[in-house]
Amino acid sequence: MEHEFVMLKPDAVQRGLIGQLITRLERTGLKIVAMKFLKVSQDQAEKHYEVHKERPFYSGLVKYITSSPTVALVIEGENAVALTRKIVGATNPLDASPGTIRGDFGIQIGRNLIHASDSVENALAELKIYFDESELVNWKPVTNNWVYE
Ligand code: UDP
Ligand code: MG
Repeated sequence: MEHEFVMLKPDAVQRGLIGQLITRLERTGLKIVAMKFLKVSQDQAEKHYEVHKERPFYSGLVKYITSSPTVALVIEGENAVALTRKIVGATNPLDASPGTIRGDFGIQIGRNLIHASDSVENALAELKIYFDESELVNWKPVTNNWVYE
């Protein structure tokens, strides 16, 4: 089963949206296998956003993600990456469809509430920045047969 790495960014935590945002992921049937409340360190932020190092928004992005606590999650399920990215919506809330997290809760690209890895490989690399692999919990929801045929 596929793993996806998700982070509720500082604005989501500060705005009291943790529960509402996790609910949107959880209600699909996707399964949480790890979850942590943490303040991202400078080192973690630089690793996480290394691909954007040369972009003009990079320093603001690192400042934002390290500014206040976040919630990091690993979720598991069939097509977890694509499904999660669809629920999260386009990077800029202005382009994100209504019904997506960014479309429903955001205004600006620099305060877009949530991160979700864009591929299976990146999810694995990113989850390793925040979790030890032993922290991923192996469990079987009792609803599994009603989520998967
Ligand atoms: N970002 C920004 N300004 C931009 C583009 C991106 O502040 O012009 C931030 C935004 O928080 C975004 C993150 O950088 O979520 C990573 O950008 P990416 O293109 O990977 O978007 P995502 O995968 O988060 O949709
Ligand atoms: Mg990205």
